[in-house]
Amino acid sequence: MDMNTFFKNAIDGLKEAGNYRVFCDLERKSGAFPRALRHRADGSTQDVTVWCSNDYLGMGQHPVVTAAMKEAIDRCGAGAGGTRNISGTNHYHVELERELADLHGKESALIFTSGYVSNWAALGTLASKIPSIIVYSDALNHASMIEGIRHARCEKRIFKHNSPEDLRRQMAADDPSRPKLVAFESVYSMDGDIAPIAEFCDVADEFGAMTYLDEVHAVGLYGSRGGGVAEREGVMDRLTVIEGTLGKAYGVMGGYIAASSLLCDFVRSFASGFIFTTALPPSLAAGAAASIRHLKASELERAKQRRNVEKLRARLDAHGIPHLPNPSHIVPVMVKNAAKCKFLSDLLLDNYGIYVQPINYPTVPVGTERLRFTPTPLHTDADIDHLVGALNDLWSRCALAREVA
Ligand SMILES: *Cc1c(COP(=O)(O)O)cnc(C)c1O
Repeated sequence: MDMNTFFKNAIDGLKEAGNYRVFCDLERKSGAFPRALRHRADGSTQDVTVWCSNDYLGMGQHPVVTAAMKEAIDRCGAGAGGTRNISGTNHYHVELERELADLHGKESALIFTSGYVSNWAALGTLASKIPSIIVYSDALNHASMIEGIRHARCEKRIFKHNSPEDLRRQMAADDPSRPKLVAFESVYSMDGDIAPIAEFCDVADEFGAMTYLDEVHAVGLYGSRGGGVAEREGVMDRLTVIEGTLGKAYGVMGGYIAASSLLCDFVRSFASGFIFTTALPPSLAAGAAASIRHLKASELERAKQRRNVEKLRARLDAHGIPHLPNPSHIVPVMVKNAAKCKFLSDLLLDNYGIYVQPINYPTVPVGTERLRFTPTPLHTDADIDHLVGALNDLWSRCALAREVA
């Protein structure tokens, strides 16, 4: 087989289906968040405002975070120099793990090189090592959880999205003596809906199951100290494992689990994805710890973000531009057509300097294509007016349906 033909055919298939991805080549401007310089293929540049960043609070450019990272580089240099077990554990890692355990009210925490790796490694290890375990997984769980569970080759059940009733029905049908684990998220990234965490914990308790909650889209953003939705709802102690990222609201990079000392020690001791990889650079650990510490004490960023989310929703409603109602910070503007969604995104970027990535199948179901906006505390009223004005123009120009609120 000619491999080049094979690669090209596979890529052409994506292009024909409209699923081929093209990067937007951006240069983020520190101190001017959410502005960036876009580099076009022809070498020219354009000033843009980013409206789809997961740096939800702009912490990636917060002076407290960048200063901590610079100081750590000056003190410890660039890389960690090894795996955690072989010379790679730096004091900054130890401090970050303490900060995370405290954030979630757990005995311990364990950091990984990304949120993806933390889900893959923690779920993969628990589910492959615990004999005869059954894992119950929400139908809309993130790829990193699905891959971890699949890698474990354990028995698994998929329950209906955010349905404690379906979970209960499936658990009741299984052997009561087998160990069980329920894996779900708090805030779901594409629809911005939030899981009924306490109800899931009730069902898990009834059947003696462990609970594993991915708070990746919630840490830093919800709860009075940024501990996530579980903190806001006072249920952190009911979860066996809370998993999060340092790469979204905390603005840096890395992932973690927080749980009992024994569980963390178990994963630390058996997870290949933890053991056999170089530790995070000390500067990332220092920046993440500074970001977490700042957001434990400061409500300012969260309050401004909530205000901007409300403001954007109200302005969209005033123009009848349809967006999915949800209780989170994610504002999905529904286009419901893949080609139009891509077309709108291109026009917003080229003609208005607004960068928002189109979200099409397979990320969301066909017919629910959308533009996913994430207002931050640092978008201005003028940014919001400019965005809604642009959408209003394009809605008329493309004859898209409006909704009367
Ligand atoms: C982004 C994401 C992850 C992975 O986190 P990274 O730190 O980006 O690797 C895990 N779970 C969910 C739900 C996510 O959206």
